[in-house]
Amino acid sequence: MAESRVVLVTGGSKGIGRAMAETFRDAGYRVAATYRSGGVPDGVLGVTCDITDQGQVDQAFSTIEAELGPVEILVANAGVTRDTLLMRMSDEDWDTVIDTNLTGTFRVVRRATRPMMRNRFGRVILISSVVGLLGSPGQINYAASKSALVGMARSLARELGSRNVTANVVAPGFIETDMTAVLPEETIAGYKSRIPTGRLGTVDDVAHAALFLAGEHAGYITGAVVPVDGGLGMGH
Ligand code: NDP
Repeated sequence: MAESRVVLVTGGSKGIGRAMAETFRDAGYRVAATYRSGGVPDGVLGVTCDITDQGQVDQAFSTIEAELGPVEILVANAGVTRDTLLMRMSDEDWDTVIDTNLTGTFRVVRRATRPMMRNRFGRVILISSVVGLLGSPGQINYAASKSALVGMARSLARELGSRNVTANVVAPGFIETDMTAVLPEETIAGYKSRIPTGRLGTVDDVAHAALFLAGEHAGYITGAVVPVDGGLGMGH
């Protein structure tokens, strides 16, 4: 059964990652999710892991392999923001975002794809952002980290395509989670007025795009950037 495949979602403690873990679980997949704080949904194997630490990444994969078997579908979702205008952005703001969103994703992808290549099956789904290609004032670090995931996925698609491993990007728009709850009212209203569908996105909107890309019927889709943004980024 394709739906009993093993899925790993990084950052499954809350927000989009938690919803994705629940959606894959409900579809019958065997799901593991990483967390640093909090926990993971019932019926999901929780593994503690900070993706800025290669040792923790390796340990998490060993645990998942022992409990569930090799990861066949990787959803690299964990990410952070440190928003501020360029003139005020510290090295630490830059380094934290790049080390988590970009290098952290690299660490997880490198570890996940070894068994995928061996087993001649894999689905890599990188959670980017509409901001990666659209740009956003105050998010130079975040936009740089998220646009880099497009280059990563497309290079992976070319490197691993012959091994039946696909690599795609999901680019959410404005989704209601803790990450966006901290934004000022006027910023949220400003975004809303520019979204053709006239509403903010939900975590389920994103989760179902990832579910589709992981499925057996998506095997001929690779190197794609799938927007889940109500049309906010159209044209990029
Ligand atoms: P949340 O802040 O709600 O959740 C982020 C998740 O990432 C948490 O589970 C957190 O774990 C985990 N995480 C953060 N840093 C690390 C780390 N170093 N190691 C391991 N896990 C880590 O964010 P969202 O759910 O909103 O965002 C999820 C993804 O979607 C992110 O990549 C984000 O950039 C992207 N995105 C979000 C959008 C939105 O509008 N919300 C729009 C576009 C993209 P813990 O809490 O346990 O530390």
